[in-house]
Amino acid sequence: MPEPTALQSADTLILPRWLLPMEPAGALLTGHAVAVRGDTILDVGPADELERRWRPRERVELPEHVLLPGLINAHTHAAMTLLRGVGDDLPLRRWLEEAIWPREAALMSEEFVHDGTLIAAAEMLRGGITTAVDMYFYPEAAARAFTALGMRAVLGITAIDFPTPYAADADEALAKGLAVRDAWREEPLVSFVLAPHAPYSVSDETLERIATLAAQLDLPVQIHLLEAAQEREESLARHGETPLQRLDRMGLLGQGLIGVHAVHLTESEIALLAERGAALVHCPTSNMKLASGIAAVPRWLEAGIPVGLGTDGAASNNRLDLFQEMRHAALLAKVGQGRADVLPAMQILELATIDAARALGLEHRLGSIRPGKAADLVAVALDAVETQPCYDPCSHLVFVAGREHVSDVWVAGRRRVSGKILLLQENNRPLSALAQNWRQRIQLQIR
Ligand SMILES: [Zn+2]
Repeated sequence: MPEPTALQSADTLILPRWLLPMEPAGALLTGHAVAVRGDTILDVGPADELERRWRPRERVELPEHVLLPGLINAHTHAAMTLLRGVGDDLPLRRWLEEAIWPREAALMSEEFVHDGTLIAAAEMLRGGITTAVDMYFYPEAAARAFTALGMRAVLGITAIDFPTPYAADADEALAKGLAVRDAWREEPLVSFVLAPHAPYSVSDETLERIATLAAQLDLPVQIHLLEAAQEREESLARHGETPLQRLDRMGLLGQGLIGVHAVHLTESEIALLAERGAALVHCPTSNMKLASGIAAVPRWLEAGIPVGLGTDGAASNNRLDLFQEMRHAALLAKVGQGRADVLPAMQILELATIDAARALGLEHRLGSIRPGKAADLVAVALDAVETQPCYDPCSHLVFVAGREHVSDVWVAGRRRVSGKILLLQENNRPLSALAQNWRQRIQLQIR
C-alpha cells in the first residue's frame, strides 16, 4: 500500500460509473477508480482515495460505462478471417475436407496469415477482446500482426499430420513453431501453447512428442476434442480406444491440457477431466453453426473444470465477437439443460475473463482488475437508447449490449481503442482495403 500523503505519479486514472473487477467474485462497484502505470494495474479503490493518492498524466472519465477486464478469446484461428463466410451450411468434417483444407492448401502463405491476423486483431480489439489464443500456421507472421496492433496473443505451435504449405509434416511444424517461440521470447504481448489440431488428425508419434515438449518446456496444450459425434466411434475403430483414453496413454490428460469444443463428453469423462485438472473451451456459435451439438457447460462447471469461451475461426462463426459468444453460451446452456437458472450473467462474464485466464494458466497476469495484473481493460458504454434503462449492468453486458458498445480498450496499459475508434499503429494501414484486396484474390478460388 503506498504512503497515503505522498502524491505519486501514475500514467492513467480511469473513473468508470461501474467497475466490474471479476475478483472478488460477484463484485460490482460504483464510485471506484483504477490507476495504471506502465503495463500494469497499480491501484484499485474508491475514486476519492485514488484521486488523493495518485497524480496521473491522464484522467479518463467514463460516466455511463462499465469497466471490466479485457475479454479473452480462448480459441480462434485468426487468419481464417480471410475465409469469412466460406463453406456455410456444412457439418464439421465436410466443412473441413471440402471447403476449408483445399482452400488453405491453395492460399496459405506467410502473407495470408499476416494480413488475415491483422484484420482479425482489429475486429477483436474493437470488440473488447484483448487476448486471443490463436491456433494456426506461420505463427511468426501472426505474432507480427498481433503486436503491430498491440494485442495480446497466445500463439499455437501447431501440428497436423498432413502436409500443408507451412510444413511437410508435424515434426517440421513443431520445429518451426519452437523456433518462433525462441525468437519472440522477449515480447511481453506474446506467449505460446502447443496446439495439435485434433486426436483424429494427429498421430500417436506426434502426440507423444507433444507430451514430451509440454513437460520439458512447461507449455500448455490446446487441442480440438470431441467436437463431432463420430470422433469417438472413429477413434475406437482406428485405435481401439476413445480420444480421451488415447490422450491419457500419451500422458497428455492432465493440468495444462485445454480441450476445445468437447461437445460429446460423457459424464465419466467430465469427471476424469476435472480430476486431472484439465481445462475446456466452449465455442457455442461454432458448435451451433456446424451443428456439432450442445456442450454440457453447466456440468463442466459443476465438476470444477476451468472454462473459457472461444469464437473459433471466422469461417465457422462468422464473427470474432465475444459478446455474441457470451449471449449464445447463456442461451444455449439454458435450452440445452431445459433450465433457465443455469449460467447466470455473472458466471458468463467469468467465462470470458477470469475463468478463461485460469483455463489458460494465465490467471496470475490476466482476467481480473487487481493491482499487479496486466492493465488489459475494456469500457462498455451503456448510454445508448437500446441499452436503456439499465438496472443491472452485468445482465446488460450479456443480454443487451454488443461489441458495438465497446468504447475504449487498453492492452498492457496502452489505449488501443478510444471513443470506439481503433488506434492503428504501423503506418495506419487501411485494413478494409487490405481485406478487399484479399477478397479479389480469393474469389477466384471460391468458385
Ligand atoms: Zn477451432
